Amino acid sequence: MPPKSFTYFIKVFGCQMNYADAEKIFSTLAKKGWKKAADLSSAHLLVAVSCGVRQGAEDRVINWLEKTRKTNPGAILVLAGCLGHREDLKQRLRNIVDYFLPAGKRLPSSLINPLYPVLAKGESAYGGNPIYLSRAYIPITVGCDNFCSYCVVPYARGRERSLPPENIIKKAKNLVKKGYKELFLLGQNVNSYRGADRKGKVWTFSQILRTLNAVPGNFWIKFISSHPKDINREMMLAVKDCRKVSKNLHLPLQSGSNKILLAMNRKYRRSDYLATVNEIKKNIPDVVLSTDIIVGFPGETARDFRASLSAVREVGFEMLYALKYSPRPETAAFKLKDDVPAWMKKERQQKLDRVWKKIALKKNKRFLGKNTLILIDRIKQKTNRKGSVNFYALGKNFENKDVAALIKRSGKSKHNLAGKWGVARINQVGALGLSGELVEGEKNV
Ligand code: SF4
Repeated sequence: MPPKSFTYFIKVFGCQMNYADAEKIFSTLAKKGWKKAADLSSAHLLVAVSCGVRQGAEDRVINWLEKTRKTNPGAILVLAGCLGHREDLKQRLRNIVDYFLPAGKRLPSSLINPLYPVLAKGESAYGGNPIYLSRAYIPITVGCDNFCSYCVVPYARGRERSLPPENIIKKAKNLVKKGYKELFLLGQNVNSYRGADRKGKVWTFSQILRTLNAVPGNFWIKFISSHPKDINREMMLAVKDCRKVSKNLHLPLQSGSNKILLAMNRKYRRSDYLATVNEIKKNIPDVVLSTDIIVGFPGETARDFRASLSAVREVGFEMLYALKYSPRPETAAFKLKDDVPAWMKKERQQKLDRVWKKIALKKNKRFLGKNTLILIDRIKQKTNRKGSVNFYALGKNFENKDVAALIKRSGKSKHNLAGKWGVARINQVGALGLSGELVEGEKNV
């Protein structure tokens, strides 16, 4: 049954200014008919009004977001307040937070119009309509054993645990039955998955992929993240063979310099990584590779950075998250001198962005003039320079590219597209995504 009304839960951190922000958010929601949720787990919309004055405060906010996402995976999660504008957090929390709202700003109507978020996240706004659903996140591993020298995860989340395969499969089947169209498998290292079933048999990640792929239904399977040292041929073949599994492989490189990789405790050398990539390309010809690179790790010289740039060019990543190194308490690298100046980190980050975006732009041209199937997340309204209003279907395709497709149809029915499949004919590409027009019907692909 669809809910009678939509509910929210606001968590305020820090000073009075944040309480004022929270009031602003509350009044906007109240005007649209939203009600306060009885508790966090039942809310449709969750807002953290954050404080970033100290590292500890920041960590508390992030903890809350992570826990909340687990408690209520279906809700729209908003990070507002002092951390709402932070680019690094947008990247870091991209799989947890749905919307970032800079301090003092109002929630956009596109987010709180119940038609958009709820449809996009899985519930119908109309009584009697089918339940439209889109993306569901399924954690399959928790924690990490790798202890990369810059990372807090093994300390913050503990040692790696794999969820039992039966639980994952049961959850996936239920979600597909409910109409979810994209199952996103999550873990710090999904490919080191080693979950034991009730009989004590240990499953690999490839087995999970193949089993989920065999679940009847029209849905996609995506996953993040994979550690380069744990990729094997079995996994490559599973990705290649499974029709429902996206060919987007996110494989964090972190640095192209052996010296820095060693200091990061990444457990592979540049040549190992590049050899793995060659194997992947041989086994999965249509693979779309993306990565993370840290710039300005302690001791990173201009030469080390050039090694990262050349590795990025050699692999040809279509998406890259360039992160400036920041010392985190508890980690091994925290003891090292953070000796790359902030301006240099920024310069390197920008340089890296220029390089991968050039590659991505070139590669994205293969979509020009073609149809691509997308899972529509939401509908966006945009007024052009002449003052006319256009509506766009925003979503992702099988390769995990962001797609914005102009909706030509008129009337209210366009709002019902959120949470559904759509076909976009691509007429423009950028480094960050594709755009075009919505052509109705999957058969048009
Ligand atoms: S960077 Fe990834 S692999 Fe390394 S410790 Fe953190 S979570 Fe584990």
